[in-house]
Amino acid sequence: GLRPAMFRNGPALWRELWPRHRRDTHKYRRGAVLVVAGGLAGVGAPRLGARAALRIGAGLVTVACRPEALAAHAARGPDALMQRPIATEATLQALLDDQRLGAVLIGPALGLDAEARAAVMAVLRADIPAVFDADALTLLASRPGWLRQRGKSRLLKSRLLKPCVLTPHEGEFARLFGDNERIVAQASKLERARLAAAASGAVVVLKGPDTVIADPDGRTAINATGSWALATAGSGDVLGGLIAGLLAQGMLAFEAACAAVWLHGKAGEALGPGLIADDLPEAIPPLVAPALADDND
Ligand code: AMP
Ligand code: MG
Repeated sequence: GLRPAMFRNGPALWRELWPRHRRDTHKYRRGAVLVVAGGLAGVGAPRLGARAALRIGAGLVTVACRPEALAAHAARGPDALMQRPIATEATLQALLDDQRLGAVLIGPALGLDAEARAAVMAVLRADIPAVFDADALTLLASRPGWLRQRGKSRLLKSRLLKPCVLTPHEGEFARLFGDNERIVAQASKLERARLAAAASGAVVVLKGPDTVIADPDGRTAINATGSWALATAGSGDVLGGLIAGLLAQGMLAFEAACAAVWLHGKAGEALGPGLIADDLPEAIPPLVAPALADDND
């Protein structure tokens, strides 16, 4: 059953679970992230997610895209990013089957066509820690049964190890859970997120000025950092990449989501008016050490 517990999101909530790496680690052990992108119509959004995953400490990030978008991705920095074309479902499956893969981000500028739908299904079935954002949420909204399958068919233990994180803004949330009257009838944003997490088996990050994070086990956190300057194109795509980057490093999903949301908000505060989403990944590294210091709560 649910064990409701409400937290104010801050480093005290996730500091102990922040990924720590051995001195002799290597790039795959640091965490490998796959960002599943779409075609030429949107190369920026997935790249923002990819860059954020690198900046929060993932060792290796690969952008998988339609073949026609490969050159556009390859032509833009950072040079550390890998690119792979997905021409067929089998190509994506091969990337998902790589045992070294730590987490997937799917959704930003993915598109809504049949190929995008097939990619979302493949990631759901793959049972790899995954962040579903943007177009992936819209595709999931038309097939709510998909999420329940992934959430409920597994033992609690495997759910903890292979978690699913949904990062809807209010519009995407309404599409995803709109047919669940118990959820949409709740006036409280916190309650809506809590019920949505319980119903889906996924960690739900309900975004906005007062982002709420909810775990299927009943825990919820209200975020306290942020700035209206974050209301800018691409800002959410960066958040998805931060969460995927922490999942790939082995962090548990609720804490990974809380940490990413808090740091994203802090970056927004630090950059202030005039920030563009491209600035956000670069603003993360200097925020991490102070957050992990015990005197910052
Ligand atoms: P998206 O809606 O996917 O572009 O994501 C926008 C991101 O910016 C989310 O992380 C939101 O929490 C954040 N955000 C949007 N509007 C505001 C606001 N007015 N104040 C603080 N954060 C915001
Ligand atoms: Mg978005």
